Amino acid sequence: MTSLHPPTPDELTALRRRYRHERERRVRPDGPGQYLGAEAEFGFYAADPYVAEVAGREPLRDTVDVAVVGGGFGGILAGARLRRRGVERVRLIDKGGDFGGTWYWNRYPGVHCDIESHVYLPMLDETGYVPEWKYAPGEEIRRHAVRIARAHDLYADALFSTTVTALTWEESSGTWIVATDRGDAFRARYVVTGTGTMTEPKLPGIPGVQEFEGHTFHTSRWDYAYTGGTPRGGLTGLADKRVGVVGTGATGVQVIPVLAEDAGHVYVFQRTPSTVDVRGNRRTTARDVGADRDGWARERRENFLRIVSGEECGEDLVADGWTASAGLLEKLLPSFSRPDGDRGAFEAAYEIADAAKMNAMRDRVAREVADPETAERLKPWYRYACKRPTFSDLYYPAFNRDNVTLVDTADTHGIERVTGSGVVVGGTEYALDCLIFATGFSVGVSGVHSGKLPVRGRGGALLLDTWARDGVRTLHGFTSNGFPNLIRMGSLHNASSVNFTHILDEQAVHAAALVAAAEAAGALVEPSREAEDAWIALLAEGAPDHEWFHAECTPGYYNREGRGRPNGPTAYPHGAVAFHALLRRWRQESMDEALAPV
Ligand code: NAP
Repeated sequence: MTSLHPPTPDELTALRRRYRHERERRVRPDGPGQYLGAEAEFGFYAADPYVAEVAGREPLRDTVDVAVVGGGFGGILAGARLRRRGVERVRLIDKGGDFGGTWYWNRYPGVHCDIESHVYLPMLDETGYVPEWKYAPGEEIRRHAVRIARAHDLYADALFSTTVTALTWEESSGTWIVATDRGDAFRARYVVTGTGTMTEPKLPGIPGVQEFEGHTFHTSRWDYAYTGGTPRGGLTGLADKRVGVVGTGATGVQVIPVLAEDAGHVYVFQRTPSTVDVRGNRRTTARDVGADRDGWARERRENFLRIVSGEECGEDLVADGWTASAGLLEKLLPSFSRPDGDRGAFEAAYEIADAAKMNAMRDRVAREVADPETAERLKPWYRYACKRPTFSDLYYPAFNRDNVTLVDTADTHGIERVTGSGVVVGGTEYALDCLIFATGFSVGVSGVHSGKLPVRGRGGALLLDTWARDGVRTLHGFTSNGFPNLIRMGSLHNASSVNFTHILDEQAVHAAALVAAAEAAGALVEPSREAEDAWIALLAEGAPDHEWFHAECTPGYYNREGRGRPNGPTAYPHGAVAFHALLRRWRQESMDEALAPV
């Protein structure tokens, strides 16, 4: 277990200096511009490896009740909740060849849920499924997505290997025209979007990256035809290969130990080390989690949400690395704000707790990695949660193997150059047969909030144009005036949490209730300008104050590569628990605020 020892005042001063130094040597002037999207000549990095050939089909011109854009947990849950409300024709559309979203794409060796499966997997009460592991392997999660889809008959009308390219409101018919890259132009009376935020793989814009002549792919499109094996390992195709992995975020931390088992040699190109906390994965039984009681899963995930949202809670049912560090994670939440009282004392106490946690993280590296020089390079020097916390009991021991070499690239702002035969760092070329990018995803470049999917509402107005002109305008994040019967999922003006499937399920329940209310009233789902004004005013009142924290953090996607978070309200300021209560109350009392006469 990690031990927490509080720092002395001198240690704190030294830590501050060290954190500043580590941040400064990592911040790059090009910020998010340093990355390449997996498109054009890099488009092969995003191709679907799980569909051998996309079957041809006639373009659709029919009309459905609800089109749901996205077949990940957001879309599936929206579909399931709509079905439970008796909506008949629900059509989910997804770029992938099946349901699962992030769990469809990410099948790399070692892929596991990072959040306890009993709170992460949605609709456990409804489907009767009890996960077999405290942290489920990706395949179990993907199968659960399929289970929910099957249980709610979502396959019947689904469109796979299909990307929605435009949504256009047609006033005369009171329907949305849904256009896709397969030539479809069908109509839907309602549209629900669950398009996710981190769906597009990104690559580092390293000079020469297109010149590598060996085998290369992104972790979210794992090439088992080349590596052999399965997500559980057995990558026999790599036995005699020199494999380079770029990236040591949540994905790298899971994939590197499996590669280390099977590959001839693994070179880990690290720019910033992750915090890697104790995992303690284990098999679980229904009894362990109290799954013999009705509503056990709802109760457990509510308990988890309360704890990680900093709410009072008598008992910690999940009791893991997330709940243990809940106090330190609060600073990531929209609800986080410094108290009005003695801010100095508050920040000082926070800093001490943070330093104690990070000391424990660094102590763990020193204990588990035999070579002191390698251990030193694996130590993270920033405040807790500057980067996505990760958990593994296999990661550090992997660096004790003879066939694993850690290559630290911090001094050169990452890899310097890719050549036809390998990777150059600090003037040394590392010859490679295979180069794997665990470099993550572009944030917010897909879906209705990105511009890649144009949404035209009343009078042909583009959603993003109206927001550029008037600021983001929504009621609860879901709906906007001028865009009738369009319901958007996601955290914008809504809620967020590390357990995002919980947020998505609450959103799905709400979306289905809106559709049902509009059907019953013979109305459109469309808030008034006044309802939007009131919501925006409420968001602005409690806009979060975590800029001070992110401004000092080492760069990453959490702080737009060191530039800090955008100003202004992006989510409900009083936390997910309060937001869900607000929605429940609002559904009972004020649902008509969201409806407009036909
Ligand atoms: P990520 O967190 O964005 O990490 C990308 C990695 O690539 C970082 O280590 C980054 O280094 C490195 N990198 C980027 N450019 C580089 C360059 N030029 N040279 C060397 N290294 C470079 O991506 P991810 O690990 O795929 O995780 C993305 C998110 O997916 C996570 O934060 C999490 O939300 C989710 N995820 C969840 C699970 C789960 O189990 N639930 C598992 C995996 C991922 P820097 O840190 O220096 O930028």
